[in-house]
Amino acid sequence: MQTTSGPPPAPKHTCPESLATVTIRPGDRDYDAVRHTYTRLGSPAAVIRVRDHQDIADTLAHARTTGVPVTARSGGHGISSRSTNDQGMVIDLSRLNTVEILDSRSGLVRVEAGARWGDVAAALAPHGLGLSSGDTGDVGVGGLATAGGIGLMSRLHGLTIDHMRAAELVLADGSLIRTDTEHSPDLFWAVRGAGTNFGVATAFEFQAQPVREVIVAMTVYDAADTAAFLTRWAAAVEAAPRLAHQFPDARRRSRRESSCGPGDDRVRRHRRDAGPRGSRPPIVGRAGPAQPRNRHSLPPAAARRARAAACAATADRVAPGLLDHITPPAAESMAALMKAAGMVQLRSVGAAVNDTPPTAMASSHRTQNFSLMAATVPALRDGLDEHWERLQPHLNGLYLSFETRTGRRQLQDAFPGPVLDRLVSLKAQYDPDHVFDNNFALPSVPFPH
Ligand SMILES: Cc1cc2nc3c(=O)[nH]c(=O)nc-3n(C[C@H](O)[C@H](O)[C@H](O)COP(=O)(O)OP(=O)(O)OC[C@H]3O[C@@H](n4cnc5c(N)ncnc54)[C@H](O)[C@@H]3O)c2cc1C
Repeated sequence: MQTTSGPPPAPKHTCPESLATVTIRPGDRDYDAVRHTYTRLGSPAAVIRVRDHQDIADTLAHARTTGVPVTARSGGHGISSRSTNDQGMVIDLSRLNTVEILDSRSGLVRVEAGARWGDVAAALAPHGLGLSSGDTGDVGVGGLATAGGIGLMSRLHGLTIDHMRAAELVLADGSLIRTDTEHSPDLFWAVRGAGTNFGVATAFEFQAQPVREVIVAMTVYDAADTAAFLTRWAAAVEAAPRLAHQFPDARRRSRRESSCGPGDDRVRRHRRDAGPRGSRPPIVGRAGPAQPRNRHSLPPAAARRARAAACAATADRVAPGLLDHITPPAAESMAALMKAAGMVQLRSVGAAVNDTPPTAMASSHRTQNFSLMAATVPALRDGLDEHWERLQPHLNGLYLSFETRTGRRQLQDAFPGPVLDRLVSLKAQYDPDHVFDNNFALPSVPFPH
């Protein structure tokens, strides 16, 4: 992850008059509260806290005229650290944060991009509704919903974008477009997986699901024989009912598993009876009901800022990959990786995620059962890179939202051949001047196959 510190440079350009009251610049009282993100210390020349799509259009027009770099920011949790910059403009969507229940019986909801998933869960819970999203309440809607959304309800309800019914975007020319399966369906296909390349999303419509009581459990296993344990754990996950989502944090000798699923007797029985076969009994096991919104409680703003500064100052490389299955050789490679990396996290995906056909949207990886992520600090980076290369033969694609590198290889792993080619051609149609090239930029012409 990138880090920048020191006093911010003086702004080199002025903003249009229409944006004067919503622009925060170096030296302004609020500047320190808006310049950084969760993963990066930034020094933008201007942060525009937009009120509506017109402010976004004005900012884009100004950026295009002056050639100043511009980036959108919703929750500021992007792992690739691209939602702030140095001496550029940031379109801050945090004011566009309304969550609206359009139809409580069908579960149709409209969520503005600047809301955070904790707000969404809190607004839906009183209606007995929930939306599959990530595991962290202060992640923003805009970044996650333009990429995928792997979370605690994925095995039961799929990815966040699998429930998207429409998206509203400001395109590079400043026009506001509402896209769905009947209106500019090719753009709607692209937004669900590669959205940041096509515009600034202002709002989404989602089909929420009935979700009432949720059981959350934490189990710690002795995993001294890590590879054997991972193989057994993977088999147990693949055999588990899709109601249960396993989400382990791997440590060198023990594994902590957080599970989450609806408060359903089948899940309770599964948790009681179906630990990884052949493993020793858990060292710690706790389970209990939780309201869906409690999985997404939002920390106070000051705590969030402090955490962001700590993360930006220490975090370095994050590497993600997807796996169809965890074979014994893959488990051996992962066990070695765990000794080298700062943190390794494995999530179960599969089940409902794989019900969506791979052609339905740009997010087309629909055979995998596991998502692996390794993170490290600078001193351990070489070790991570070396072990990650050894894992490559076992990986099948990646989820861009967990990636810090933004090059050709990442695009090719995220979007298999024909998907990437189609995205490149849509980029030429919707963003021919490459205004939205800030994160995982699609090229102008397809990569040679
Ligand atoms: C602590 C933590 C936990 C996480 N947990 C999960 C998880 O459980 N599941 C999961 O799937 N992901 C998870 N992520 C990854 C997260 O989903 C992505 O990083 C996501 O992009 C963050 O969204 P954001 O709006 O907060 O990000 P931002 O930093 O605001 O933006 C990220 C990227 O999206 C672009 N962007 C933001 N808003 C818009 C918009 N409205 N229109 C167009 N482009 C936009 C930005 O320019 C940037 O390139 C986690 C990240 C962190 C830091």
